[in-house]
Amino acid sequence: MKIISINTGSSSLKFSLFNMDDESVIASGLFERIGIEGSNYTIKFNGEKVNQQVELNSHVDAVKVLLDKLIDLGIISSLNEIDGIGHRLVHGKDKYRESVLINDEVVEDLDKFKCFAPLHNPANILGINAFKEALPNVPMVGVFDTAFHQTMDSTTYLYAVPYSWYQNHGVRKYGFHGTSHRYIAETVKEMLGKDEFRLISCHIGNGGSITAIKDGKCVDTSMGFTPLAGIMMGTRSGDIDPSIIPYVMEQEGKNASEVIDDLNKRSGLFGMSEYSSDMRDILEKCGQQDEKAIVARDKYVRRVVDYIAQYYVLLGGADVIVFTAGVGENSIPVRRQICEELACFGVKIDLDKNNVRGEVVKISTDDSSIDVYVIPTDEELMIARDTLHLINR
Ligand code: ADP
Repeated sequence: MKIISINTGSSSLKFSLFNMDDESVIASGLFERIGIEGSNYTIKFNGEKVNQQVELNSHVDAVKVLLDKLIDLGIISSLNEIDGIGHRLVHGKDKYRESVLINDEVVEDLDKFKCFAPLHNPANILGINAFKEALPNVPMVGVFDTAFHQTMDSTTYLYAVPYSWYQNHGVRKYGFHGTSHRYIAETVKEMLGKDEFRLISCHIGNGGSITAIKDGKCVDTSMGFTPLAGIMMGTRSGDIDPSIIPYVMEQEGKNASEVIDDLNKRSGLFGMSEYSSDMRDILEKCGQQDEKAIVARDKYVRRVVDYIAQYYVLLGGADVIVFTAGVGENSIPVRRQICEELACFGVKIDLDKNNVRGEVVKISTDDSSIDVYVIPTDEELMIARDTLHLINR
């Protein structure tokens, strides 16, 4: 069985084609600058990489080129080999608690919920429609970023604001990165060989969220009504006092959406360091004793530690902490600093074992009170697994 996982952005389309017999990636790639001058695609397969400029006026064009190229490059011999298409969908509000076969109702809901994810849901619809046009008989599955977090209880997902905001406008915590946290939960479950465990999953990349997981289910997560909440990120502030917003509006003569834009795009590591949103750059500057970079790094670590500590209490302890995504998988010094700040919980890191990037490794010592792992996330595989599961049902 061959399944294609799709992640559509407003001007991009990422894909991975899996052979689900052994869950191997047959080909993967990215179509960029769709509808913008300079559009191009990259396809990787068999250790080769093809990159070409091509006019892509729409997502429909991108899907056409993708399917043609899969055949031209000999990656598949016929489109009939594609058994299912899995789409990463961002916001399913509180209606979608798990992945679903895509039908008209799902597309209508994505449109209905677009005020909750104004950049992502419309892009997801473009992706679905483009594949529907190109491969009308191939079943499609939607895998929502928000679905995994639907097991949070109302004490957790409600904000302490007028209840009518929730009732009338859907103001609540939704959480994001759910597919990644679910992948981590399933991997840990398999590794431990049991269903009962307390896990704190740290997805720390450019965006970042931390999730408390009990027996495979989400209990709480750090992102909120939008991905702006929670820990400090590459360019996002994470949690702040909301009164800062009207104050800065007045001081800088900006409107609310301009200030929210500052909080999304010009805050976090970038805002604090006034240098870069990329942790590698920040660490390099720290090496040069740059004070702003040092404070940015330390604040970043502190916010992760704050959430781990909070979730340790919420879960009544923790069996496993996992680091994943760009920083979590690759940044040896950041993992070390976080673990050292968790020493009061009995967390002990093995500095040799921590010297890894992008591999599944236990980095804690044998006498650490909590097992700490690096596990590379794989949202594309999770989407392909759900797709296979639903089309086989
Ligand atoms: P996104 O949220 O866009 O998916 P990623 O998960 O790819 O982001 O994470 C990107 C982040 O990962 C960047 O801040 C980058 O600095 C960080 N990163 C990647 N490789 C390394 C590395 N070797 N050391 C430190 N940070 C790294």
